[in-house]
Formats: sequence, structure tokens, C-alpha cells
Amino acid sequence: MSESFHDIREAVRKLCAGFPGEYWRNLDRERSYPTDFVDALTNSGFLSALIPTEFGGSGLGVQEAGAILEEIHASGCNGGACHAQMYTMGTILRHGNNQQKETYLPKIASGELRLQAFGVTEPTSGTDTSRIRTTATRRADGYIINGQKVWTSRIEYSDLLLLLARTKPRESGKKPHDGISVFLVDIRDLQNQGLEIKPLRAMINHSACEVFFENMLVPTSGLIGKEGEGFRYILDGMNAERILLAHEAIGDARWFIDKAVGYAKDRVVFDRPIGKNQGVQFPIAENYAEMCAAQLMVQKAARLFDNQESCGKEANIAKYLASEASWRAGDTCMQTFGGFGFAEEYDIERKFRETRLFRTAPISSNLILSYIAEHVLGLPRSF
Ligand SMILES: Cc1cc2nc3c(=O)[nH]c(=O)nc-3n(C[C@H](O)[C@H](O)[C@H](O)COP(=O)(O)OP(=O)(O)OC[C@H]3O[C@@H](n4cnc5c(N)ncnc54)[C@H](O)[C@@H]3O)c2cc1C
Repeated sequence: MSESFHDIREAVRKLCAGFPGEYWRNLDRERSYPTDFVDALTNSGFLSALIPTEFGGSGLGVQEAGAILEEIHASGCNGGACHAQMYTMGTILRHGNNQQKETYLPKIASGELRLQAFGVTEPTSGTDTSRIRTTATRRADGYIINGQKVWTSRIEYSDLLLLLARTKPRESGKKPHDGISVFLVDIRDLQNQGLEIKPLRAMINHSACEVFFENMLVPTSGLIGKEGEGFRYILDGMNAERILLAHEAIGDARWFIDKAVGYAKDRVVFDRPIGKNQGVQFPIAENYAEMCAAQLMVQKAARLFDNQESCGKEANIAKYLASEASWRAGDTCMQTFGGFGFAEEYDIERKFRETRLFRTAPISSNLILSYIAEHVLGLPRSF
């Protein structure tokens, strides 16, 4: 079932074999960035999968990109360090002007420029993006940015930032999200010029940061599409993000199930392998069934996206089912390993922490259920 795009998967597995658990464990301990791994992925061309060939990418679809990310995670590695390089450029590709596309996409495809950071979340707005407070004020030579973002992942390892800011107050538009604009910001020279980045120590090694803007100037050429339409532009990218991260969660679930099966066969207690006990077998079998079902929805969502068909429902359900499946498989794996699940050297506890993120980011499970209830089932709007 997992072997669609066999050649791609095989090549990813080969690359990942060079980055074993010990590599990730050391980075996790130090909370440092997997530069060698990201370089290897960049040089192999995997991160440019979604960029059309005319701009130097591989011109593949979300199905192939998803297979790459799933295999990274099923191999015990983590795509979180660089997955944004794959899809954040979608906003430029779909809504940027010709000059922006020609200037940036070939360099993002080659890895010369890193577009790894996406600044949406703010401390006070929470999931309600319409309430972001970061402002972009028009001046003759560009926009002046003031405000704050939080949980901006990988910004320390990025040359460019895709930034959401208000160009008009919330109250002035017809809809709550009117008046939000999206900017592509070259942050290489902006530190000490209105941009401050503070790393956040978190439960996982994800290079997330707080970001502060004080009178930071962004040239007019950084505006993507029309002023005030930014939220609409990032929405279609969100479906791609959900589908791709759902693939990562499926990869994690596969890894957990594989580890649990291996250990359950080998570990002997009471003179029998623990896997002989149905109390140990059944949760693993249940997780396998859940993973297979989630995988079907993930594949369906990816197929619809690639065929440019409407896929909001499927992308959300895929992300929900895959993140729940990986979380439950992680819990079973911890339980199967007993006390050894807590030992760093088995990597279970690290993966367990890492996979938990999918239930919260980029969108939490509750908000997906709310989308399904309101937009798919037609239940009354609750907020
Ligand atoms: C490691 C990490 C990396 C991240 N990287 C990025 C990044 O690169 N860029 C970026 O912009 N953001 C990033 N985020 C932010 C992430 O997208 C948000 O944390 C996530 O969307 C949840 O938003 P919040 O934390 O503001 O939660 P809140 O919106 O404050 O919600 C808190 C809880 O309440 C629930 N809730 C809220 N409203 C309702 C409701 N109406 N009905 C039911 N339940 C509700 C939510 O489901 C959630 O469980 C990252 C977060 C983490 C932890």
C-alpha cells in the first residue's frame, strides 16, 4: 500500500540510512539544526519537488512530495526541519507576479535561497488569524512592519520569510479576514534593522522562535498579489500543508508500528515473547488498521489536490485521521517497550514527543472537527 512511487521512496530510504537515530538524538539533546540532513535533501533535489521545471524544480505533485516526507518519517528521520522549503513557495507560485517568480523560485529550487519560515501565529490571536495585530503601513518606499509573531519555525535557518500582516484594520473590511496582506521578506540583512529573533526552548527540536518587528521596512516589491487579499492566498497553500504533514504522520505511524512489532517479537517475559499476548498484539493491530484507513484518505486528498479539484474536506480529514493514528501508534509503541520506551537510545520517546505536534500544528484537531461540523455537515456555526 505504501509503495506507490517506489523509486522515490527507495531513494529517500537510502538517503535517510545515512542519518540514524544517534544523529537525531544528539541534535535533540542540543536542540540544534540538522544542517547535514537538510543539505543532503536539498542536493538530492527532493525539496524542490513541487516547483515547476520551468523554474528549476522537479515539477512533481503533492502525491510525490508526500511520498518523500512519509518515507523520511518512516525511516526515523524528521522532515520538520525543512518541509516548509517544499510548500511555502506555493503562495509565490500561485499568486506572485512574474518578477517575483523569476527572481525567487529558481533560487529556492536550487537551495541557494531558503524559504523555510512562515509567520502567521501571534501570541494574542491564537487560531483566529483575523485578529492578528502585526501591521504593515504603506510608505513611499515600502511597508513599515510592527508587531510580533510566535512559534515561527526555522526562521534562523531561512533567508526569506512569508509574513502575514494587517494593511487595514479588521473593522474596516466586509469580512474579518479582509485587510490582511502577505509579504515575502528577505530577512538576511534585517537583523538589527527592526527584526529580532528569539529562539523558544520547546518540547521538541523544531527551531521555533518568537519574532519581533519594530519599524522594519519591506520594499513594495515584497507584497504578494493584491493588498488586503493575503488570507485568501494562503488558504489554498494550507490544504497542501495539511496533506503533506498528514503524510509525515503516516510515516511516523509506520515507524512506531514497525518498532512495536519488532520488539514484541523479540522481548521475552514469562518465558514467551510479549507479542504472543493478545493484550500486546491487539493495540498494535488496531493501530495498523487505523493507519491504513488514514493513509487512504491522505492519498485521496493528495490526488484531488494534484488534479486541482476541491479538497478542503479531504485535506482536513486526512490531517485529522493521520495525526490521531500516529499519536495512538506512538502511545502503543511506548507501552510495548515498557520501561525501555523511556530510554533515549531507543528513539521512541523522541518520536513520541515529535509526533504529538501534528495534533496541534499547523492546525489543532478541534479546529478541524469544527470545520467538518460546520462546512461538511452543515451544523450551526459555533464561533
Ligand atoms: C513546534 C511548533 C511549531 C510551529 N510552527 C509555526 C510556524 O512555523 N508558523 C506559524 O505561524 N505558527 C506555527 N505554530 C503555531 C501553531 O500553528 C499553533 O500553535 C496552532 O495553530 C494552535 O494555535 P494556538 O497555539 O494559538 O492555540 P489557540 O488558538 O490558543 O487554541 C488553544 C486550544 O484551544 C482550542 N480551541 C480554540 N478555539 C476553539 C474553538 N472555537 N472550539 C474548540 N476548540 C478551540 C484549540 O483547538 C487548542 O487546542 C507552531 C506551533 C508549534 C507548537
